[in-house]
Amino acid sequence: MRLSQMLFVTLREDPAEAEIPSHKLLLRAGYIRRIGSGIYAYLPLMWRVLQKVSQIVREEMNATGAMECLLPQLQPSDLWKESGRWDTYTKAEGIMFALSDRQERELGLGPTHEEIITYIARDTIRSYRQLPLHLYQIQTKFRDEIRPRFGLMRGREFIMKDGYSFHADTESLKKTYQDMNQAYSNMFTRCGLEFRAVEADSGAIGGSGSQEFMILAEAGEDEVLYTEDGKYAANVEKAVSLPPDAEVSPFTSYEKRETPNTPTIASLCELLECSPTVVVKNVLYEAVYDNGMMVLVLVSIRGDRDINEVKLQNELVKLAPQYHAKTLLALNVPDEIAQKKWAAKSLPLGYIAPDLADDYISPNKEVAPKFVRIIDKTAVELKNFVTGANEIGYHVVGANWSKEFPLPNLVVDIRKATIGDRASHDSTQTLKSARGIEVGHIFQLGNKYSQAMGATYTNEAGEEIPLQMGCYGVGVSRLAQAAVEQSYDKDGIIWPVAIAPYHVIIVVPNISDEKAMNAAEKLYDELNAAGVETLLDDRSERAGVKFKDADLIGIPYRIVTGRSLKQGKVELVERATKNSQEIPLDKVVSTLQKAVTEAVTS
Ligand code: ATP
Ligand code: MG
Repeated sequence: MRLSQMLFVTLREDPAEAEIPSHKLLLRAGYIRRIGSGIYAYLPLMWRVLQKVSQIVREEMNATGAMECLLPQLQPSDLWKESGRWDTYTKAEGIMFALSDRQERELGLGPTHEEIITYIARDTIRSYRQLPLHLYQIQTKFRDEIRPRFGLMRGREFIMKDGYSFHADTESLKKTYQDMNQAYSNMFTRCGLEFRAVEADSGAIGGSGSQEFMILAEAGEDEVLYTEDGKYAANVEKAVSLPPDAEVSPFTSYEKRETPNTPTIASLCELLECSPTVVVKNVLYEAVYDNGMMVLVLVSIRGDRDINEVKLQNELVKLAPQYHAKTLLALNVPDEIAQKKWAAKSLPLGYIAPDLADDYISPNKEVAPKFVRIIDKTAVELKNFVTGANEIGYHVVGANWSKEFPLPNLVVDIRKATIGDRASHDSTQTLKSARGIEVGHIFQLGNKYSQAMGATYTNEAGEEIPLQMGCYGVGVSRLAQAAVEQSYDKDGIIWPVAIAPYHVIIVVPNISDEKAMNAAEKLYDELNAAGVETLLDDRSERAGVKFKDADLIGIPYRIVTGRSLKQGKVELVERATKNSQEIPLDKVVSTLQKAVTEAVTS
């Protein structure tokens, strides 16, 4: 392609709308343009990058035996009602764009495709002989994100590869899951990315497991906790650890103490001269289920630790059937106004004890009459602990479970693991923290959707059984930007060769120099004919401008038809290292062909 014929507009200044380097660079280099919040146009250079990423993804998927298809983006609400996700997706999380058609039928714009694919499986899979089966697509997804930001990183319209597999049993599912683990590692390696596979939260489905693939970068929205022995890495949402040991409590007998103005753990520990590890703090939450039921939750946890709200949510989803609900819609820390809805009397906030009486909840058919009492494992072991006295300005010290306080009946790990904690697999290892950009997620779904939607198959014994399912996503457009976040310098983007929009850019410093122009044209034709994707900067711009632009757009190799042409040579500059060499004209094609092949296959 000739730059003189292309839509090629670069910006000298950083656009005000962009915060992180990759977003600034993609805008400045003319790859993307913002159309609205979280909505971007992929300009020709970007589209080439996206197609390269898609092709790598496609090749690795096909190699595992998965088959590409294309599913509708307009999805009838009926299917989402069958799976029970319509309300969660349109109301609670509100992530799905919903609309009604001219006949007042409700539709959603696909944020993901479990419902559609399960419908297809129900319709087409009859027998174990058709299994396993794996279908995938590469397509635009729509999500009404709360905070669209960072350009393509969190868009409201973005490109995803999503695949769904169907199996007769969990063994077969696990095999495909392993294959996907390998296929994903191959994809990201081929795209030239430094990544890490981490354990991920698999929501309330739990059990079977899920893994995320993270591109390590400061701008990442996710936190990854890992150990240096390479044996443990997990998203903080899922991470487990061993907490520091609790100190021995200085209080040996049970008594109530006046502790004015100590609603926080820090202020309390200062007054009582004790460690936060001997305190049991009690945190109140309101859980709202999909049938409108509100349940009040009291979580007891050691004073020096924080609650992992993802783990808490998963526990509360498990309780849904108890309240005749399917799922949890929201989890809030109640404020003054919220309390008015259910509190029978003023709550001793900041001084709550684990046995806060149920009569704080006023009778109301939409509010469960009893607190759900949950305790984190680390708080169970405490002896002679300090906790609230259910009275503003008072705490108790020297308390013990089963003596002064009944042990809450739900004992779970609900604690947030943090940097510096000892690792669960090896207590000599401590957890380190890094920021990551989630570019892929593989997930064993089990029979959640097949059960809800009645997608079954008949086994050899003639029994009808719900299909086992897995799902596997790659954020194609997010990945492309993440590659820039991982690879740039002060002058611009440095594309990994495998996903660069072009391999080579030929810069003619002065287009009125006929010899230089002719040599460039000849190389341009030869390189493209040899499969080396080449751009020709034939614009009537100053040489300095052209060099700056070439660096900014990040094409891996630059050829300059300049002074050395007199000796039958051109300059070859590698973008990543800025190394430059002069090579004879007749060696240009073979040199670049070799360089590109090596870079793409290594
Ligand atoms: P996140 O936690 O970042 O919101 P997710 O867990 O909701 O992502 P999945 O449903 O697992 O995302 O989607 C599969 C992949 O699609 C993700 O791994 C990510 O790379 C990509 N993705 C998800 N949401 C967006 C978005 N708003 N913009 C761009 N890519 C996205
Ligand atoms: Mg995910």
